[in-house]
Amino acid sequence: MSRAKRIVICGGGAIGVAIAYFCSRRGARPVVIERHAVAGAASGKSGGFLAFDWCRDSALDQLTRRSFHLHADLAAELGNPWGYRRLATYGGYAIENDPALGPGPRPWLAGRVAITGRLGSPRTTALVEPHAFTMGLMRAAQAHGAELQRGVIAGLVRRPGGAVVGVVLEGGELVEADAVIIAMGPWSTLAAQWLPLPAVFGYKGHSLVFDTGETIPAEALFLEYQEASGEVLTPELFPRGDGTTWICAISTARPVPIDPADVAPDEGAYARLEAMCRNISPALAAAPIRTRQACFRPVTEDGLPLIGRVPGVDGAYVATGHSVWGMLNAPATGEAMAELILDGAARQVDLAPFAAGRLRALDPA
Ligand SMILES: Cc1cc2nc3c(=O)[nH]c(=O)nc-3n(C[C@H](O)[C@H](O)[C@H](O)COP(=O)(O)OP(=O)(O)OC[C@H]3O[C@@H](n4cnc5c(N)ncnc54)[C@H](O)[C@@H]3O)c2cc1C
Repeated sequence: MSRAKRIVICGGGAIGVAIAYFCSRRGARPVVIERHAVAGAASGKSGGFLAFDWCRDSALDQLTRRSFHLHADLAAELGNPWGYRRLATYGGYAIENDPALGPGPRPWLAGRVAITGRLGSPRTTALVEPHAFTMGLMRAAQAHGAELQRGVIAGLVRRPGGAVVGVVLEGGELVEADAVIIAMGPWSTLAAQWLPLPAVFGYKGHSLVFDTGETIPAEALFLEYQEASGEVLTPELFPRGDGTTWICAISTARPVPIDPADVAPDEGAYARLEAMCRNISPALAAAPIRTRQACFRPVTEDGLPLIGRVPGVDGAYVATGHSVWGMLNAPATGEAMAELILDGAARQVDLAPFAAGRLRALDPA
């Protein structure tokens, strides 16, 4: 009987744990190595919004449609401890200094917010609580035999011919593997020191989580909001099944600190976000703020993720750069990576558009 493949997954975000889950379900032995905390970066702080067909004119379309279905399946199979729910989604706008016109059709929204149309129905849009989703998938993977190890990936173990056969942790420990996957979100760019990989950048986003109880119905909102200064923000507001409401705005290109624990907000960003929330919603103005948070989403030069083999290096794989759709696309990425590593090719989605070799590799110096 052949021995189960040992697969080292660098990074315990949604992408890493989804790969661990699908590999473990197939009888492999994945080990997730995480520096800070599972779901401790964007995968625990993001919006968790899912859309079936919002990538229809992009190379992401097939991945996204597959993933939307897998989210429903995973919630059903694993008891939905992450509040997966379908909901309608609307778009609109507001101007900070517009006089409030009295309550509109939605009493929880200020009268100055104009809803301009429906962007999605419960058939096409859904939501998960991302921290619970990422933790839940990690636990499900562990139930199938996956391991979680705390450690900082500091290098790779190579055979004389160049094949990757493990990782080196800070402190010197070696962890052997039949396959190594770089899934460290924006920190994946560190792996370009060891592998021919393109740059992965980080875009910072700020968000607040309010305890809104029953005051906000199950409707997601995408707004354009003009501040008194004239600057336009594009807030997204997602009411969750657990009685909280997540809202974000203010994305900035900032250097990513080496240690994910050191991610900090831009000066003044939370105050600006809180002022906006008071302005658009009396329900938010009255609700306690449970969490103020900032995180980086991973982005490549052309906006598409890197999913597949590292070109020219046996045993090395990459899965990162999912930008604004990492929570949505985690399941189909996990499934495809498990197929690629265990069967030699992905069957459900074509990974060709996501090949790392399409972009120029960083100079390892
Ligand atoms: C504000 C905001 C809102 C978003 N909203 C949505 C949304 O509504 N829907 C959606 O689909 N997507 C959304 N996204 C995008 C989504 O959150 C990301 O694409 C996704 O979380 C990326 O997951 P990841 O696993 O690649 O990276 P991460 O979540 O960043 O995980 C990477 C992990 O690697 C670890 N790591 C780093 N360095 C090392 C090292 N040296 N050794 C070991 N481990 C290391 C980190 O600690 C981290 O846990 C949003 C993103 C942001 C910023």
